[in-house]
Amino acid sequence: MNGPTQIGSRAKHSMNCRHTENPPAYGDCAEQGWQGSAAADIRDLGRTGLGELAQRLGERPFRASQIARWLYQHDVEDIDGMSDVSAVLRRRLAQEWCVRRAAIEVSSTSTDGSCKVLVQFASGDAVETVHLPAARRTTVCLSSQTGCPMACVFCVTGRRGRGRTLGTGEILEQLLAIQRPQPAGAGLSRPTHVVFMGMGEPLLEPRPVIEAIRVLVWEHGFGYASRRITVSTCGIPDGIRALAESGLKPRLALSLNAPWESLRLSLMPKAPPLAEVVPALKQYAAATKATITLEYVLLEGINDTPSCARALSSLATNLACKINLIVFNDAGDGEFRASSPHRTRQFMEWLQPGPRAVTLRQSMGRDIAAACGQLAGGACTPSGPAVP
Ligand code: SF4
Repeated sequence: MNGPTQIGSRAKHSMNCRHTENPPAYGDCAEQGWQGSAAADIRDLGRTGLGELAQRLGERPFRASQIARWLYQHDVEDIDGMSDVSAVLRRRLAQEWCVRRAAIEVSSTSTDGSCKVLVQFASGDAVETVHLPAARRTTVCLSSQTGCPMACVFCVTGRRGRGRTLGTGEILEQLLAIQRPQPAGAGLSRPTHVVFMGMGEPLLEPRPVIEAIRVLVWEHGFGYASRRITVSTCGIPDGIRALAESGLKPRLALSLNAPWESLRLSLMPKAPPLAEVVPALKQYAAATKATITLEYVLLEGINDTPSCARALSSLATNLACKINLIVFNDAGDGEFRASSPHRTRQFMEWLQPGPRAVTLRQSMGRDIAAACGQLAGGACTPSGPAVP
């Protein structure tokens, strides 16, 4: 089914938020861009903050796990619903915290089964989240910002400009919200894989993303294996280092798109220089023992030449990276075109011998503008919701 489909009226926001006299330093509402309420989404605490909260309240550490199970496994609507938490503790929690649910506004379903959902937060900001069912996996593509200041020329989000960075609670809420039953039907299936390839650059302000990943891999949170989580970045060295130092070991993908600096700058004018990105990638690979993926959207006549292929092959070999070639999706302005199937095959041949693996990805959700570079509520990274 193509085109926008209303899958549910605006979901009920949990409005049990209460005023706090001592706003928490971690996950502060103001920090997350909220106006008008000092109560914060308890899920902004992530795993680290929940442990700190239990300690501050004089509770034993297992309380943090208990609360997390209510939040992420039972998807509780409000703090009062945590029925095996004592009434006294629930009251204390509710003095400072709430569960801030988002509304699912519109969903479009592609002929290939992928589904694009507009997730509207209580602040009024909205992001797009994409659900991508495939033969052996179901992937959710999460957004991390409401816009993006990196201004990549082929990306609709980049053209929207800077937005705000989502809080940890808002990042995790996308995953929870798409699975909730809606008035017009069942929720979407639980994803087996999570990719940070939606709107925004996830490592520009990495703390909320890193804390969200801590919850994603926590057995009392979502319980994902870290290898099932992928962070795609245009290459923010400090963010890559922060991720390396987190000890979390998600898969890392560099949105490269050009094998040398001048070409890359013409496509990604605010991306950090490769001379700074490469050492950070090496640090990440050394810290995690993971193979990094170089994502490369093929643009006709721009980055699909034999010299580009040779330079890309050399870079990937030098870094022991895999290459993920991605078919470009026209966002509608006609400025760029996808390389032809023939040129794409040639390009793959020109890469050899060299990198340890080369894959070609066809983004899902083209007909609903949910494929890479197409998300209209913003967009996505050029690697977009292509299943890694
Ligand atoms: S491609 Fe990624 S980093 Fe570049 S503008 Fe779009 S969202 Fe931002």
